[in-house]
Amino acid sequence: RSTAFGWNWDNSYARLPESLFSMQQPTPVSYPQFAVFNESLAKTLGLNIDALDSEEGAEILGGNALAVGSQPLAQAYAGHQFGHFTMLGDGRALLLGEHITPNGQRVDIQLKGAGRTPYSRGGDGRAALGPMLREYIISEALFGLGIPTTRSLAVVETGEEVQRETRLPGAILTRVADSHLRVGTFQYAANWAGPEVLQQLVDYTITRHYPAIAMDEQRTLELLKAVVKRQAKLISQWQLVGFIHGVMNTDNMSISGQSIDFGPCAFMNAYDPDTVFSSIDRQGRYAYGNQPQIAGWNLARFAEALLPVLHADSSIALEQAQDAVMEFSAHYEQYWLQGMRAKLGLMNEQEDDKQLAFDLLAMMQHVKADYTNTFRDMTLQQWSSLAIAKHQNWQQWFDRWQQRIEGQSEDKQQSSNQMRSSNPVVIPRNHLVEEALEAAVNEGDYEKLERFVSVLQNPYRYDEQHGIYSEPPSEQLDCSYVTYC
Ligand code: AMP
Ligand code: MG
Ligand code: MG
Repeated sequence: RSTAFGWNWDNSYARLPESLFSMQQPTPVSYPQFAVFNESLAKTLGLNIDALDSEEGAEILGGNALAVGSQPLAQAYAGHQFGHFTMLGDGRALLLGEHITPNGQRVDIQLKGAGRTPYSRGGDGRAALGPMLREYIISEALFGLGIPTTRSLAVVETGEEVQRETRLPGAILTRVADSHLRVGTFQYAANWAGPEVLQQLVDYTITRHYPAIAMDEQRTLELLKAVVKRQAKLISQWQLVGFIHGVMNTDNMSISGQSIDFGPCAFMNAYDPDTVFSSIDRQGRYAYGNQPQIAGWNLARFAEALLPVLHADSSIALEQAQDAVMEFSAHYEQYWLQGMRAKLGLMNEQEDDKQLAFDLLAMMQHVKADYTNTFRDMTLQQWSSLAIAKHQNWQQWFDRWQQRIEGQSEDKQQSSNQMRSSNPVVIPRNHLVEEALEAAVNEGDYEKLERFVSVLQNPYRYDEQHGIYSEPPSEQLDCSYVTYC
């Protein structure tokens, strides 16, 4: 059903067993106004930009009015948070429904910060402007980098304040996702909804995200294997650009393979596997270098949740689940190495490539070299600004690398082009994210943020000067940087 805004709703989640969600209307806000509106995303979705980027549009994306055909609901889910299992659910988010784009893609339209729900527990159901703008910046940056991610259609200021440590301006983010099915959704179904509902959820997920396996005799096992593989790919992409999610709880891991739920996430500057920025991650559970292992752990929880419907014989089910999860590290390594070869301009595979990459990373860690700019300078052959060029092993490593490149049948130009499309010139540097947020939140000045986002949408443009956008922070600033949820 089309409306003036261009919405084309078909709410399949609302047709699932009702134990999986609660119908819930957004709570109205006093004065909804757009802070940012993502025109290019709106266009991709087939939405009417002029109709939506208006007062009426702000009423809808602020939760004061309902688009015809939307059916707001809060999704139930559970999750391991920092290793501890809890019942969760959308405590401040509402799924407005699923929009079908002009080319037939189904996407969730979700309001984050739209008011209390049956799953709010002690929370107010609201969100602060800063963190919602942060999600907007980071999700658009990941999208620009070519990494699967939920996206942000808009941030609407509510005209109300929320109480955190201090009083902060409130806002609502409109999130666009392939779906909000999480590992935690399956944990919820397995623990509280029963095997029949669990099986329905499995079939729903296969239809929506993995239709190629729908007719498979062992489709639940195939689903598990497919999710393991997609997550292996996603995490390899995070590692290759230095993205640290920050809260890889099982409720923040998407079954579709998109990056989701941007809380205290950040990009690494100086290369160090122990990098943690999150104030709530005191043990470093979700440190940069731990992300692949944590993803494997989360997938084991996913496999556990599927056990009741995996196989009639529970010992066979257990064995299948274990084998499928075990495949994660091999997939991950393969994707990572493939990505690392691209970053190094290697166009074929050789036995020693992994060691070549490891030796480079070891030098980077030793001299605290900026991860992004090391690869950028290698791409540009800017040896003078390359920090690792001062490392005692550099010359030897460089010779090995050059020999490896020269031994390829492809010409050097091809190799160089590959490096240019694999090594970003800009990433959302933490200090720049904070500067853009400060101007927007404290001064109502969105110019910095808009310019920053437009640079981040094209992170592989080697033919442009990037000035401050490609400068790392001082070591002191980098080491003292902390992110909050
Ligand atoms: P997150 O850390 O964003 O993944 O959220 C973890 C859980 O806390 C989810 O169930 C959220 O819905 C819930 N939550 C976070 N903030 C609030 C809030 N302000 N009010 C109610 N629930 C919240
Ligand atoms: Mg219900
Ligand atoms: Mg979450």
